[in-house]
Amino acid sequence: MNNNRYSLLFEPLKIGPVETKNRFYNVPHATGMGYVYANANIRYREIKAEGGWGVVSTEECMIHPSSDHTSSPCMRLWDEGDIDLLKRTADAVHKHNALFAVELAHSGKSAANRMTREYPLGPSVIPYTGYGPYSTRAMDKTDIKNFRTWHKIAATRAMQAGADIVYVYCGHELSLMQHFLSRKYNRRSDEYGGSLENRARLLKEVLMDTKEAVGHKCAVAIRFSVEDFNGEFSISSQDEARDVVEMLAELPDLWDVNVSDWSNDSGPSRFFNEGYQTEYTNFVKQVTSKPVVGVGRYTSPDAMVSLIKKGVVDLIGAARPSIADPFLPSKVQNDDLDNIRECIGCNICTSNVLLGAPIRCTQNPSIGVEWSRNWHPEKLPEKQTEQTVLVIGSGPAGLECAVTLGKRGYQVIVAEAGTEIGGRVEKERLLPGLSEWGRIIDYRQHQLTTLPNVDIYFDSRLGLEDIKEVGAQHVVVATGAKWRRDGRGKANPVNPVSGWDQDHVFSADDVMDNANIPEGPVIVFDDDHYYMGSVIAEKLASIGRQVTLVTPNGELATWSKYTLEFGHIQKRLAEKNIPVITTHNLAHIDSQQVTLQQVFSGEQQQVPASAVVMATSQKPDTELIDTLKQHQSELNDVGIETIEAIGDCVAPGPIVQAIHDGRRYAMEFDTPDSDSELPYKLERTSIQI
Ligand code: ADP
Ligand code: SF4
Repeated sequence: MNNNRYSLLFEPLKIGPVETKNRFYNVPHATGMGYVYANANIRYREIKAEGGWGVVSTEECMIHPSSDHTSSPCMRLWDEGDIDLLKRTADAVHKHNALFAVELAHSGKSAANRMTREYPLGPSVIPYTGYGPYSTRAMDKTDIKNFRTWHKIAATRAMQAGADIVYVYCGHELSLMQHFLSRKYNRRSDEYGGSLENRARLLKEVLMDTKEAVGHKCAVAIRFSVEDFNGEFSISSQDEARDVVEMLAELPDLWDVNVSDWSNDSGPSRFFNEGYQTEYTNFVKQVTSKPVVGVGRYTSPDAMVSLIKKGVVDLIGAARPSIADPFLPSKVQNDDLDNIRECIGCNICTSNVLLGAPIRCTQNPSIGVEWSRNWHPEKLPEKQTEQTVLVIGSGPAGLECAVTLGKRGYQVIVAEAGTEIGGRVEKERLLPGLSEWGRIIDYRQHQLTTLPNVDIYFDSRLGLEDIKEVGAQHVVVATGAKWRRDGRGKANPVNPVSGWDQDHVFSADDVMDNANIPEGPVIVFDDDHYYMGSVIAEKLASIGRQVTLVTPNGELATWSKYTLEFGHIQKRLAEKNIPVITTHNLAHIDSQQVTLQQVFSGEQQQVPASAVVMATSQKPDTELIDTLKQHQSELNDVGIETIEAIGDCVAPGPIVQAIHDGRRYAMEFDTPDSDSELPYKLERTSIQI
C-alpha cells in the first residue's frame, strides 16, 4: 500500500469470532443467478474476493420452501443437498482470504411460492407484496416454532458449508421477521403482536437461536432496516427502529443497517446522492458497541475514510459499487483511484435480477458473465496479431470497444464526428438527475489517456472515401441512433403520428440539443416507457413550460419498475405538477392542440398543445454501415478485411446494451475459433430420472 491516506480502510476488524482483513464489506445482494446459474454464481463471488473485498456475501439464501421467489433465482438451504453449492462458493471466496457471509432469509409475505405452492406466511392474513392475487396464512404458535427450527437448521448448514458470518435478515420489506415487527402488517393479539417488545420477539428469538446454533464458530449479523417509509405505520430511526437497536444492541456480532424497501435502499442516482442513507443510519453506532456496516453507493475512498473517522460506520458496505467495480478495494490499496469504475446509480443491475435473469451492469460488462463468457473485469486476453482497427463513433459502444481493444494491445483509431467523446451519454448526462451517468465517459476517457496505441480524431465524420484512406484492416461502425420525431414506436409501429411534420413537433434529441420549445402547454408523448419521457418532461418544466405527459400504457414509465425508479418518478412528477394522461395514444397534431385517443374505447379528446415532444423510440443511424456493405469489395481491395456494426446503430436500446456490444466485439476480435458452437458456456440442469 503506497498511500497511507487510506490505510484506515485496510485495518482488520474483529466481528464476533472471526476477523475481516479490511473494511470493504460486500453486503448481501441479489444476482438473479442463485441456484439456477450455479457456476456463474460461484465465479461471481470469487471475483469479488479476488478484487479485495474483506467480506463477500451471498444473496438471500432461502431457509424453507415456504419462501420461494420463483422465477427470480436465489440461494437456497432447503435440505442437505443445497449445502454443496454454498460450500463451493465459500471455498472460492476463501481462496482469496476473504470472509464468506450467508444471508439466511424467509420472505414471508414477499414470496408467492409459485414453484412450491406453499401458502405464503405472515404474522396476519395480509396481501402478498408483489403483483398477484395472493395473501399470507396467519402463523400460529406451531408455525412460529417451526420457523425458528428451520432457521436454526439452515444456520447450521451454512456453517457446515463454510460460512464465516451468518445473517438474520430483517430488511427491505422482504423478511418475515420485519413483517412481524411492523405495525402495518402485524395485527396479532398474542405475545408476538401489539407492543414493540412483542413485535420484536421473533427477531430476538431467532437471533438467540442463531447464536446458539453457530455463534461459537460464525459471527451472527443482523441486517436491519432503520427506516421503512411506511407513513403513519413507519418503523423509523426517530422512534421504534432506534428502540429495537437499543433493545438488541449487543446481541448480534454485527449490525448491517440500511433503509427499506429495496427501491429506497438501492436508491437510483436520479433521486438519491451518494451517502443518502447516513442521516437515517448514523445513530446506530452510538447505541451499540458492535461493528456497524452501512451502505450508500460509496465509491470515493475519501468519503469512506471520513465515515469511519466520524464514527458513522466501521465497515463500508457496498453492493452496486462492487458490481460496477469488483476490484474497487484493490484499486484503493494500490492507489489506482483513477481506474475505479464508479457505479452510476442507474439500477440496470436490479432490472435483470427482478426479471429472473443473471445480473448485468452498465459500467461493468463482465458482470454476470464471468463464468459463462470467461470475461474478467480487469484481465483481458492479449492481442494475437498486429492489427489496426478503425472505430467510427465514440458513444458508449465505440468507446468500450476502443478501450478494450486498446488494452488488449491493438492499434486503434477512433473517428468521432463531433467535438467530444461520449455520444448519447454526453447529452443525457445533462438531463435532470442524470449527471452521475457521465461516469460512463469519465472512466473510459481516463482509460484512453493511458493507451498510447489508441488515437482519437474529432470533427471527423467519416464517409466511404475517408475510410479507405485510413489504412485499418478492420472497421467497426458505432454511429448510434436518434430519437424519432415522427412518433413511431410501440403504439404506432407502422405509420407516423398524423401531423408530426410541423415546426412545433420535436424529438427527445431536439430537447437535449436545447431546441427552442414554444411557450405554452407542451405534450410529451412517452411510448418508450423507461426514463426518457419523464426526464424530458422535467427538463421542460424546469424552463417554465407547462408540461403534460401522455402514454398509451396504463401507467407512466412501466419498465422503470425494474430499475426501482418507478415510484420515485411518479413522486417527482407530482412534486413538479406534471400531470400524466395514461391509456391514450397520440392520434393527431394540430397547430395549437392534439387529439388523444383512448386505447381501449377509441374515444377521442382534444388537449391544448403549443408544442409536442416525442419520446417514443430511436431510429438507428445505418447510413454509413449500409454504404460500406454496398462497397464491400472496394474496401477489401484497399486491405479492409472486416466491417461490422455495433451498438445503437444496429438495434437501439439501453446504454448497457451498447457497452456490452462494444466489449463483445473487442473480446471476440482476432480470437482463434473455439470448438464450441456458442460464445458462452451453458448452465445445465442435472437430470435425475
Ligand atoms: P452508441 O450508444 O451505439 O455508442 P451513440 O449515439 O451514443 O451510439 O454514439 C454514436 C457516435 O457516433 C456519436 O458520438 C456520433 O457523433 C458519432 N458518429 C455518427 N456518425 C459518424 C460518422 N460517420 N463518423 C464519425 N462519427 C460518427
Ligand atoms: Fe451501478 Fe448501474 Fe452498474 Fe447497477 S448497473 S452497479 S447501478 S452502474
